[in-house]
Amino acid sequence: MKAYKYKLKPSKRVAQQLDSTLNLCRELYNAALQERRDAYRTTGKSVSYFDQALQLPEIKVERADVSAIHSQVLQDVLRRIDRTYSAFFLRCLKGQNPGFPRFKSRDRYHSFTYPQTGFKLVGNKLSLSKIGSVRLRLSRPVEGRIKTCTIKKQVDGWFCVFAVEENQCPFIPRTGEAAGLDVGIESFATLSTGEVIENPRYLRKAERELKIAQRKVSKKKRGGRNRKKAVRVLAKKHLKVANQRRDFFHKTANQIIRGFDCVAVEDLNIAGLVKNPSLAKGISDAAWGTFIQILSNKAACAGRRVLKVPAAFTSQDCSRCGERVKKSLAVREHRCIGCDLVIHRDHNAAINILGRADRLVRVNTVTR
Ligand SMILES: [Zn+2]
Repeated sequence: MKAYKYKLKPSKRVAQQLDSTLNLCRELYNAALQERRDAYRTTGKSVSYFDQALQLPEIKVERADVSAIHSQVLQDVLRRIDRTYSAFFLRCLKGQNPGFPRFKSRDRYHSFTYPQTGFKLVGNKLSLSKIGSVRLRLSRPVEGRIKTCTIKKQVDGWFCVFAVEENQCPFIPRTGEAAGLDVGIESFATLSTGEVIENPRYLRKAERELKIAQRKVSKKKRGGRNRKKAVRVLAKKHLKVANQRRDFFHKTANQIIRGFDCVAVEDLNIAGLVKNPSLAKGISDAAWGTFIQILSNKAACAGRRVLKVPAAFTSQDCSRCGERVKKSLAVREHRCIGCDLVIHRDHNAAINILGRADRLVRVNTVTR
């Protein structure tokens, strides 16, 4: 399970509804706790979740305000009590000396949960059963199936937290192949097979637009209204680029994972690279780190391996004879003075990267 948290922008009416729901949930929590305490004191017996849940219809008949709350939200309150109690007894069993479950004041009760149904997210609008519809700031898209929705009150406002089931690992048959992968400067990456992965055109276009938006911000007067506007445009472009890039990363990582059992990459010092002005590609280098992270996660999920190898001289050394051929970043071709090999510098580097991984562990494959 993975959690996604978004800030809510409730209307005044909905904010009141959220407040009163939270408060009634707290009341129910305290009442349920009271019942458990009393039962234990008088009869020595414990009250179960089901004992308490069975009373909910009765309570609803007597209390119109409680009946105006989604029934699963109420059940979740009782489950919280149940969990608190289980944890308490477990610690007792372990011989620890836990504090008895406490009544909750307003300062100590912050959230309620829709454990299955009663909520619906469409675009940036969240409909909550028995409460109403509320806009949220969808700062990143939800990936996967939403299992539960928790509404939370914080000092800085209302939030919702979605618990999302992460995508199950797909089964991918083994290929018996391994590859080295080198970061590109003109292209996104080059494989030791010679395959070049280009940066998609839409991403380059979005990046250009981002640069323009950046320039517009710096031209506007500080503190002015126009600058504020430009900043908002810039923030939107940033988000767009980030989303598109992540999308591209996931697709590319899937392709690579499908094709190779083992992928070798350079162990780049990303922070160091960004500082290096000769590379002046700060953003893309940082992005490379993100890509490797995504690739590693997918690899782990699918039982594949991503190996990080020392990065020194991978683009200088000849991948055929080992001769060190010094070249500046501007030189895009590796021309070996030892064995006459002529090959694109990134392709040469990718083969070296695979070779190093092969020496680190026996990567069960042929080096290409
Ligand atoms: Zn050579």
